[in-house]
Amino acid sequence: MKKFFYIVLLVLIVGGFIYVYPEIEWSSPKIDIKLESENIGTRPFDIEVSDEGKGLKNVSVVLSGAHGESILVNKNYPEGIKGDKITVKLDPKKLGVKGGPAELKVSAEDRSRLKIFSGNKTKINQKVNLDLVPPKLDVISTDQYINHGGSGFVVYKTSPDTIKSGVTLGDYFFPGYKGNFKDEDVHMAFFAYPHDVDPGESITIVAQDQAGNEKTVGLIYILRDVNYRESDINISENFVENIMVPLMDEDSSGLDHKEIFLKVNNEMRKKNDATIKKTGSKSEKKIMWEGAFRQLSNSKVEANFADERTYILNDEPIDKQYHLGYDLAVTKRYPIEAANGGIVVYADELGIYGNTVMIDHGMGLLTLYGHMSTIDVEVGDSVSKDDIIGRTGETGLAAGDHLHYGIYINGVAVRPIEWWDKKWIKDNVSAKINQASGEFNSQDTGTQTQKNSIDSKSE
Ligand SMILES: [Zn+2]
Repeated sequence: MKKFFYIVLLVLIVGGFIYVYPEIEWSSPKIDIKLESENIGTRPFDIEVSDEGKGLKNVSVVLSGAHGESILVNKNYPEGIKGDKITVKLDPKKLGVKGGPAELKVSAEDRSRLKIFSGNKTKINQKVNLDLVPPKLDVISTDQYINHGGSGFVVYKTSPDTIKSGVTLGDYFFPGYKGNFKDEDVHMAFFAYPHDVDPGESITIVAQDQAGNEKTVGLIYILRDVNYRESDINISENFVENIMVPLMDEDSSGLDHKEIFLKVNNEMRKKNDATIKKTGSKSEKKIMWEGAFRQLSNSKVEANFADERTYILNDEPIDKQYHLGYDLAVTKRYPIEAANGGIVVYADELGIYGNTVMIDHGMGLLTLYGHMSTIDVEVGDSVSKDDIIGRTGETGLAAGDHLHYGIYINGVAVRPIEWWDKKWIKDNVSAKINQASGEFNSQDTGTQTQKNSIDSKSE
C-alpha cells in the first residue's frame, strides 16, 4: 500500500513537471537602456527589452528623484512578444520634475511560470542627471543683409555644454564651427538663403546640449530681392542623340527622345546633385581661403545663377530645371584656376557635370568646376588660389567648351557673385570676425584667427 502511494506520488510529480515544464524557463528578460550620457533631458531615449523564453509580460520605467517617483512607462504585453524597443520622452512640466541627480528604475517581467504567481523579473537602476536647462546662446554679429539665393554669415557664442549648434532655415540646417577664437565657445556659421525658398522664412540660430535641451534665437535680417531669369531652351533631337545618349549608364534602346532627355536632365541631375550635397556636407572645421574668390580669368558669365530653364522638345515643354551656377567661357581647353585655397574633395566624372572637381574651402564652403576636358588634381590635394586644377571642356551635358562654376554652402547652391566681391566679403564676413576677435581674442596670445587673413589680399 505504501509502495503504491509512492508510485502515485512519483507519477503526479513527473506528470505535473511534464505539464508545467514548457511554461517554465530560467532565462530572465534583458534590459538595455540606450543613453548617450548620464545627462537626460527632453531628448528621447530608447530602452530595449527582450526575453528569450516565454516572452515579455510587463515592462515598467520609473523616474525617481527629488520630486518623488513618476511612472514613465507601464506596458503589458500579449503572449508571444519576445522583444520591444520603448522610446521614452520626458515632459518635465507635466511630471513636475526638477533638475539634478535622479534614478531610472526599469523592470521587465516574463511569462515564465517558474514562480507560481509571477515570472522572472529583471530590474535595473541607472543613475542619471536630469538636465532641463537649455544652453546659453548669444548672437554676436549684427547687420544681416541677405540676398535671396545668396549667403549669410553669423558669429555667436554658446555655453560650454553645447554639443550641436548652427543655423536653421526652413528644412535646411547649416552647422556652426568653433575653435577659431581663443574663446572656445564662439562659433561661426555660413548659411544659404536658397533661391527656391520663399521670402519671409525665419532664420534661427540653435544650440543643443547633450540632454537634448535646445535654445533658439531668431536672426533679424533684411532679405534683398534678386531677379532670377526664366528662359526657354530648345532641344534638338541631335543633342539628345549625340550628347545625352552617351551619358546614360543604361541601355537607351526602346526609349524615345523625351524619355532619354528626362532620364539625363532630370533623374541623373538629381543623382548628381545628391552627390554634391553629400560631398559638400563634410567640410574642414577651419577657413582655408582668403580674399575674394576668383572668377575664371578673362571669362564672361554666359549663363546666370538660378536661371529657370524650360526645356522644349518638338514644341513641347518637357522639363524645368534651375541652373545652379555660372557658365564661364574663354577659349577651348582654357586652364582653370582654383577659386581660392582649399582641399580637393572630388576629382572625377559626375554625370551631367562631366569631369568635375570640387574644392572644400572649410566650414561648409565648396566650389565646383564642371565640364572639364582634363583634371590635373587628385582628391586630398591642397590647392591655393590660382593653382591650375585642369582645363575647360565640354564633357557632360554641355554644348560647347565652357566651365560650369558653382559655389555651395553645406551642399546648397548659392550666388557665386557675392564670393567674387571683395567688398561683400569684407562687410559680411571679415567685419564680423574682426568684431568678434576684438571681443574674444586677447592681444597677447598670438592666437591666429582669420582676423588678419580673409580680406588681406586685394583682387
Ligand atoms: Zn552650367
